[in-house]
Order: sequence, then C-alpha cells, then structure tokens
Amino acid sequence: MKRKDKAIERSSDKKKAHVRGHFIPKGYDMAVCTGCHLIFKESRWFYDDDLYEISEKKKTTHKVTCSACIKVRDNNPDGVIMIRGAFLLDHIAEIKHIALIEERNAKAKSPFDRVVKMIKSPNEFMITTTEQKFTQRIARMIHRAFSSDISFEWLHEEKFVRITCYRD
Ligand SMILES: [Zn+2]
Repeated sequence: MKRKDKAIERSSDKKKAHVRGHFIPKGYDMAVCTGCHLIFKESRWFYDDDLYEISEKKKTTHKVTCSACIKVRDNNPDGVIMIRGAFLLDHIAEIKHIALIEERNAKAKSPFDRVVKMIKSPNEFMITTTEQKFTQRIARMIHRAFSSDISFEWLHEEKFVRITCYRD
C-alpha cells in the first residue's frame, strides 16, 4: 500500500513538472524539455544551448516535456487565425514568414509561444498557435501588413481565440 502511494506521488510529481508551474522534484536542481531544449532553472524558463548540452546528461536534471511541446504534440492550440480572401491567399508565403518570424522573436521573452500548425485549404489558410496573445500578435501583424479586415472571437470560456483576417 505504501509503495503504491509513493508511486502515485511520483506520477503526480511528474504531472506537475509537465505544466508551466514552477516545480522541480526533490533531488533535481533544474528541468529541461527534451522536445525543444527549453531550460527551467531558478524560477524561470529560458533557452541556452550550451547549458542544455551539459545539463541534459546530468542526473540532477529533471527531464520534462514543456507545456508548449505538449500543445504542439497533441495538436491542442489556444488560438487560430483563419486567413481568407483572394488577396491574402495570394500572399501565403509572406504570411507564413510573418508567423515564423514572430515565433523566433518570441523565443527570448515568451518561449511558450509556438506555431502549432499552418494548413492551406482551397478557401483559407489557417495558423494555430499555443497561446492566445501570440495568436493575436500574428493576426495583427497580418492585418497591418496587408490592410486586411480583422475580427476576434473568444470561445470555450475565453480559453481559445479565433481570429479572422480577410481581404478580397
Ligand atoms: Zn518543450
């Protein structure tokens, strides 16, 4: 019974470490995401390739999957941009570029901002991302770059944002 309790405790520790919460189990001094190499140390998340390389092999480094990698893996975004209209659909390469540049720029300040998917269908181009604010930033960039119409909808108790960019 006791052993079982311990097992449960351990598995819930693991779960906690998977969320963005600031939790490193006893016996570890830092955590790293083995998916994107994000590091959690001294109450903050950041990228440092050299530190990752050294720390990844250490027994005192807790290996986790960060919340952004989980959202990408599970295809479980917090926001979507629907890009519609002839003009915008002629500029998909530039729109993709905007999204990827924003993702790269977010790395230092908000490393959980990720593009989940970019999908082209006959009548629209769709970008999904891991964070609502990040979704809004990309959509506003598209709106400004192409003078498109833009509209926002918050769904699922405001946990998900759907933004439509439109220009004929
Ligand atoms: Zn990650």
